[in-house]
Amino acid sequence: MNNLNNEAIQLRASYDYIVIGSGSAGSIVASKLSANPNITVLLLEAGKSAASVADVWNPRQINCLYNDASIDWGYKTVPQVNMNNRVLDYSRAKMTGGCTSHNDMVYTRGAPADFNLWESEHGCVGWNYNNIVHNFENIEAALQPTQTIENEFAVSFIQACENMGIPYNSNYNSGENMFGVSPLQATINNKNIRETSFQTYITPNLERPNLDVLIYCNVQELIFNTYNKATGVNFVYNNTISYSVNINKEVILSAGAINTPAILMRSGIGDASKLKELGLQAIISDLPGVGQNLQDAIIFKGSWSTKQPIYNQPTNEGYVMAWSNMTQYQQPTTCIEMMRGTYVCGESEPELESHYSITGGAMRLKSIGSVILNSLSYIDAPIIDLNFYSNPNDMQQAIDAFNLMRALGNSAALAPWRNQELVPGPNVVTSEQIENWILQNSYSYSHASCTCKMGTDSDAVVDPDLRVKGVSGLRIADISIMPFITSGHTQGPAFMIGDKAAELIISNN
Ligand SMILES: Cc1cc2nc3c(=O)[nH]c(=O)nc-3n(C[C@H](O)[C@H](O)[C@H](O)COP(=O)(O)OP(=O)(O)OC[C@H]3O[C@@H](n4cnc5c(N)ncnc54)[C@H](O)[C@@H]3O)c2cc1C
Repeated sequence: MNNLNNEAIQLRASYDYIVIGSGSAGSIVASKLSANPNITVLLLEAGKSAASVADVWNPRQINCLYNDASIDWGYKTVPQVNMNNRVLDYSRAKMTGGCTSHNDMVYTRGAPADFNLWESEHGCVGWNYNNIVHNFENIEAALQPTQTIENEFAVSFIQACENMGIPYNSNYNSGENMFGVSPLQATINNKNIRETSFQTYITPNLERPNLDVLIYCNVQELIFNTYNKATGVNFVYNNTISYSVNINKEVILSAGAINTPAILMRSGIGDASKLKELGLQAIISDLPGVGQNLQDAIIFKGSWSTKQPIYNQPTNEGYVMAWSNMTQYQQPTTCIEMMRGTYVCGESEPELESHYSITGGAMRLKSIGSVILNSLSYIDAPIIDLNFYSNPNDMQQAIDAFNLMRALGNSAALAPWRNQELVPGPNVVTSEQIENWILQNSYSYSHASCTCKMGTDSDAVVDPDLRVKGVSGLRIADISIMPFITSGHTQGPAFMIGDKAAELIISNN
């Protein structure tokens, strides 16, 4: 039964596979596994159906989707000690489609070197770019990301980049060097409607008799037998009724970078000494890496008023982006996104026309954070520490991004449009003022990842087949398995991981 209408739950006695989380990766895994009619699959989602949330589907409304407790886990970080103790919002979608239902829709594969280094430096055999490029092609064929159309303001912005030595690059996802200024690719279809993984991969298959999809089902923990084999899942429906469901083959955890490690830890998989301190005696696998290695990127935004209106833009999301300040491996450390408006919820058309914004992003941070449990209760939010700016390298990266953002915003090529710089503004001039501004205006890029990393070292949580170490019958398929963060936005890699996970599970069984 596919319960997207909040009716009474009916479960089979057991399922071949249970996928936890209907997000970016989980929807792909559940869809591909259930394509075989002889295999039964249960997809469990803690949140509601995104189908009825009108703002999800209108790309202009993305900034109205956050801070809504009915569709968001509503996480916050601990005070960031290197950022004047600021507590940062840490939005994560809680609805079908996961973060693809509320993210900014930018579509990026990442630099080929990211995946090559996963293999050469972390022992992730089978994950180099040549091995996984067909997974990107699979998901692009299904989701069909679109590219923003040329418009007058974007032409000026591209000119501004070219004048600063950043060349035009027609496709930053080509598998060649990302360096350059490019039209933005987005998971928006050609009718200007958001594409989500659930809508693309699950909705057309809801009638499959072997696929059950349940919403409002919050997974508490996994069940193991005495041989440490996963045998089932405990979840709570609608915050009230508890269920246990059995599996025949495997559980696939796709609950994202925050909740996948949290579910593992509640199930007795994590740093044994810390779990015991919380009162958990039944340790299933002592894996200190669970919840460690949290990685993300930093974003901040400048804005300028215009003297002539900016018309004819497809959405209020960015439509041109520049990748620059490349590493020796051709990974961009800076990402610049250009958009009209000041990027807030509810901006009217005249407001959108009378401003432009340029974001600066520091993409290859060395600061590493963590996700740990606050308590063993599934209701308690985990403790999230991004540890931003703990490594001095990251401030330099942010300054580089700031300087490029500001230089582009004030460039001669944009002079016909520009009235004046509003933010950072005239009081941010000296090095000290710039660093202070950066610390007060940096936010998470929302690219939480790497908290259950794949690899071969002692902190690795999954092997290159995505199997959780020390147990059987359990894999992870979401953004948490990245050994280190890719160079850019992370939904593309999450889709790729879902596609490759399905391939691995099917070929191993
Ligand atoms: C505000 C925001 C903007 C972003 N913008 C972009 C962008 O423009 N481009 C880009 O590439 N990336 C962007 N990202 C990042 C990107 O969307 C994510 O990295 C990616 O989608 C993560 O995919 P995932 O499969 O790991 O997890 P998710 O897509 O988060 O899916 C996890 C799913 O598991 C469910 N779940 C969690 N816990 C449980 C539980 N206990 N029981 C049952 N279900 C559970 C969740 O509700 C969710 O549906 C953005 C993210 C955010 C938050």
